[in-house]
Amino acid sequence: ATPTAVMVATGVGANNGVLIKGGDALERAQMVKYVIFDKTGTLTQGKASVTTAKTFTGMQRGEFLRLVASAEASSEHPLAQAIVEYARHFHFFDDSSASDGTQNGAKELKSGWLFDVSDFIALPGRGVQCLIDGKPILVGNRKLMAESGIDISDEVENFVVELEESARTGVLVAYDDIIIGVLGISDPLKREASVVIEGLQKMGVRPVMVTGDNRRTARAVAKEVGIQDVRAEVMPAGKADVVQSFQKDGSIVAMVGDGINDSPALAAADVGMAIGAGTDIAIEAADYVLMRNNLEDVITAIDLSRKTFSRIR
Ligand code: ADP
Ligand code: MG
Repeated sequence: ATPTAVMVATGVGANNGVLIKGGDALERAQMVKYVIFDKTGTLTQGKASVTTAKTFTGMQRGEFLRLVASAEASSEHPLAQAIVEYARHFHFFDDSSASDGTQNGAKELKSGWLFDVSDFIALPGRGVQCLIDGKPILVGNRKLMAESGIDISDEVENFVVELEESARTGVLVAYDDIIIGVLGISDPLKREASVVIEGLQKMGVRPVMVTGDNRRTARAVAKEVGIQDVRAEVMPAGKADVVQSFQKDGSIVAMVGDGINDSPALAAADVGMAIGAGTDIAIEAADYVLMRNNLEDVITAIDLSRKTFSRIR
């Protein structure tokens, strides 16, 4: 392709909200064999919401949610935001939580409803941990509980499995070393996701899903969207390794992601594509930025490259 053709293609991309960082990136996209999609916020809307909150020790739900929200309030993880949001709504509408005699006044509810927290730590790929009232609270997945030697009963395990099989993420909560409850969180697929996966397959490109989420949830989501190849329970640092494993035989690999977690993988990929609504770090690491946050633009990008470079082959 001539420099003019590259310039024209870059302009066409920009008009469609596909920002291409240079001619090399534009050229590589035509040869992509695998497109590896991050799950949360890329294939899914990244707008998680709590669908279930179950306590296991007889603790009141309002009390349980207040504890969990207090622990998650300092986390920026989408799961944490969903939990805090749900707990806030519950607190607003639950009469029993106004038992301190306040008239459910908006002032008290705005910030004063959370417990004081100390020693907060976010544990990437696992959850959060802190102290409330001098006792440890852990909010996260099985790995987090296992690392702290928290026992998971069959009743709790069965409940979590049930959530996962219906494509939800189960978040476990331990307070004072005992599982006090579980939350089920769902994050719907983007509307165009399955059409895009089908489109890529028709173009001879193989879609893959990578996620830090557990195997069962990942498989349920992948099945919904039509992806067969799933790499689950990948720690944040491991996504780049997944990209490299697909590059081993010389295949050209694209990675599509939105989070800080995804930036090493975006950088490792031959073609890194960041969702425009994603974090700045991901956008910086990528070769393409999809400003419309629409997965159809993955196809637009590959098409544009194929059309621009087909004539010189
Ligand atoms: P993803 O690849 O889906 O963005 P992450 O690496 O961010 O996944 O997280 C992987 C898993 O770690 C989540 O599915 C969840 O089980 C757990 N996790 C991470 N952060 C939190 C949090 N703040 N609260 C609860 N669970 C969390
Ligand atoms: Mg993500």
